[in-house]
Amino acid sequence: MRKKLLELEQIARRLEPTAEVRRQWNEATQRYADAFLNQIDEAPGYEYDPDEGQGIEQWWPPQQGHPIETVLDALHRHVDHNGINPASGGHLGYIPGGGVFPAALGDYLAAVTNRYAGIYFANPGAVRMEHMMLRWLSQVVGYPHSALGNLTSGGSIANLIGIVTARDAQGIRSTEVPRSVIYLSEQVHHSVHKAIRIAGLAEAPVRFVPLDKHYRLDAQALAQMVQHDEAQGLRPFLVIASAGTTDTGAIDPLEAIARIAQAHHMWFHIDAAYGGFFILLDELKAQFKGIAQSDSLAIDPHKGLFLPYGIGAVLVKNGQALMKSHYYQANYMQDALANAHQLSPADLSPELTKHFRALRLWLPLQLLGLEPFIAALKEKRLLALYFHRQVQQLGFEVGPEPDLSVVIYRYRPPRGDANEWNRQLAQLIQRDGRVFISSTTINGQVWLRLACLSFRTHLNHIDTLLDMLQKGVRILTEERTAHAPTKTKHSS
Ligand SMILES: *Cc1c(COP(=O)(O)O)cnc(C)c1O
Repeated sequence: MRKKLLELEQIARRLEPTAEVRRQWNEATQRYADAFLNQIDEAPGYEYDPDEGQGIEQWWPPQQGHPIETVLDALHRHVDHNGINPASGGHLGYIPGGGVFPAALGDYLAAVTNRYAGIYFANPGAVRMEHMMLRWLSQVVGYPHSALGNLTSGGSIANLIGIVTARDAQGIRSTEVPRSVIYLSEQVHHSVHKAIRIAGLAEAPVRFVPLDKHYRLDAQALAQMVQHDEAQGLRPFLVIASAGTTDTGAIDPLEAIARIAQAHHMWFHIDAAYGGFFILLDELKAQFKGIAQSDSLAIDPHKGLFLPYGIGAVLVKNGQALMKSHYYQANYMQDALANAHQLSPADLSPELTKHFRALRLWLPLQLLGLEPFIAALKEKRLLALYFHRQVQQLGFEVGPEPDLSVVIYRYRPPRGDANEWNRQLAQLIQRDGRVFISSTTINGQVWLRLACLSFRTHLNHIDTLLDMLQKGVRILTEERTAHAPTKTKHSS
């Protein structure tokens, strides 16, 4: 038995590399990261790989480990050069990511020390850090000190937690779901619809409140719909607004919606996953007025604070409501509530064991300070305004002047199907790959989208895109002219 144990120990100890092996692995990883970052300014926003990363499937977990160089080479060849490059400043589609470097160091240390951030008792310091970051976020949006929240994996889970909390706080039991009405706009992010379904609210009537010409939810229409539903004997219980829609970056009229929600005793949830951090800009404070009157909100540090993917946040003004929906053993809760920082994240979300997310948020803010984050947000918004102006000079039709950093625009060809034309233009740009843009369909019209939110996006990227658009229009126009006679023959 002892002999067997010692044999196994010998092999198991490979899980603890020696200082020398650690040094080699650290150096190789650092070389890889440096090579990646040292060329990031020139890196394309999109890379097409005909293999679509299939090669990675040959790297099934082996019995015996490989040398790190071999493994990192597989990563380089099959993963880091196909599809969108979210780390590139040329990523101007969807809602861009980023990945400020110190967050990676936070993740590294969190993994090395493996602090347990789910339960206060297990690591009071880690949990205090999480609560402190949530208190900071609360302060940013104007929530009171008593608000509670949770650092989640992203905005989708944050929305889910907010909606589940709303359901319980409003006392919606399963039998009442079919008469409990939810209000939102067509521009709400799809994660909200998913959350409604997962929360067991699929049978609740969902009202799509009309939009104004800026794609913002029309508060007057909302008030009328709520009154109408009440008159029908239904129970309006939840209104969900966006502070920065994904499609157009619009901020719904939060203050007017808050007033309606209050008057009708509805829960008011705001999806600020994309736009929330723009509240840090003085020039946008007025647009966010009313955000503090909401009951819960989702905000994504992996978007507006440029962190790498894997961190969102939910905030709930009435912290007790958040806990009521998510605690497990509440015997000790009463006393703990008096001291909010002693609450365990495990009682404020569906997760028990979790990644020490606070560290990847705290470390960058400590090392860099808030100033560059605010400057970068300001810069992204101005870049969007600049693009909105310049793209019109190229003859494009544009959507409303951006509230935040998303611009929709489309080319109106003299003849032919405009939707098809814009789709082809988007494809041309994607194939080139220097920058990556996405498109959307609003009221049956295809629009191209500029979403400026990578901290690495600067004036040169926007100028490159403008240049590519101009050339793209020329190429497509010439193709049309060249192909025109054949086409006529075809259709006749
Ligand atoms: C990105 C986004 C979400 C979803 O957040 P994830 O972090 O991707 O889960 C929700 N709402 C809005 C408005 C978003 O932009």
